[in-house]
Amino acid sequence: MHADVAALFGSSGPLARVLPAFEARPQQARMAQEVATALASGRHLLIEAGTGIGKSVAYLLPAILWATRPGPPPEERRVVVSTHTRALQEQLARKDLPLLQRALESSGVTFRYALLMGSENYLCAQRLQEMRLSSAHLPEARSGEIAEALSRHSRTAVSGLRSEIPFIVPEALWSRVRRDRDICLGARGPFWEDCLYRRDLVRAREADLLIVNHALFFLDLKTGGRILPPHAVVILDEAHRVEESVVSQLGFSVSDRSVARLLDETPAIVPGLAPRLRDAAAEFFEDVRRRAEGEKRGPVAAGRARPIF
Ligand code: SF4
Repeated sequence: MHADVAALFGSSGPLARVLPAFEARPQQARMAQEVATALASGRHLLIEAGTGIGKSVAYLLPAILWATRPGPPPEERRVVVSTHTRALQEQLARKDLPLLQRALESSGVTFRYALLMGSENYLCAQRLQEMRLSSAHLPEARSGEIAEALSRHSRTAVSGLRSEIPFIVPEALWSRVRRDRDICLGARGPFWEDCLYRRDLVRAREADLLIVNHALFFLDLKTGGRILPPHAVVILDEAHRVEESVVSQLGFSVSDRSVARLLDETPAIVPGLAPRLRDAAAEFFEDVRRRAEGEKRGPVAAGRARPIF
């Protein structure tokens, strides 16, 4: 794969043919080679690349070659690329990957890719129908007009993504028609055949390369892989933002307010227990507060949390 990658980044390679302003950049070719080697050997790779070296193409191109190699079934070839921002997702899907499709076509490499976002980015056919039926009573201006325009759009749309809608849907109305994971009926619902999100899922399952964001990627991990199709490799771009996505999807938080609310709502099964728990929690959170303000007296849990029985 090394030779293939180096040739593709050369000044007479396919990238140069589709990009009039293409400049051969040694760092970009080197990064692509490192990615290709890591993919071929199955080892992890961490890269910090400066701006302007063209890093997205440097990882996309070897990922495409790896994902389209003959032999293995799709789940052993599929590559997931995860970004933090929607802007980068859109850039990969609307600019970089179409460009690479054109560039690689002449080398006989064809590939499929798909973009998958969080639920709130998709139009829900069922909720749209509900809005159409109740639009006369909705407080938002132009509800009926926008509902009808969305309905016309959904008849020919190939994707449920909001960014594919060719007109602006005000936020208040979008919140009425966007997919809501908590109430989505999936295949059990009456709108499954017309569901645009379903079409996006089908495309994702057929893709060699799948573009997602960190929130969705870690939500998939949390749900035991129930959202994304099986894949063999993940590339995390904007990896400096991974930590916050991990914390928000896989972490848990506890606050003095949540403890107080829990104690208020818990029946008094053991007499005197609630006040003791309240005192212990107050002491614990006071200690956390002091440490957060700069006191350095060792680990909180080791120092202050104590049994109360
Ligand atoms: S399957 Fe879910 S997203 Fe699709 S139309 Fe039904 S409720 Fe909406």
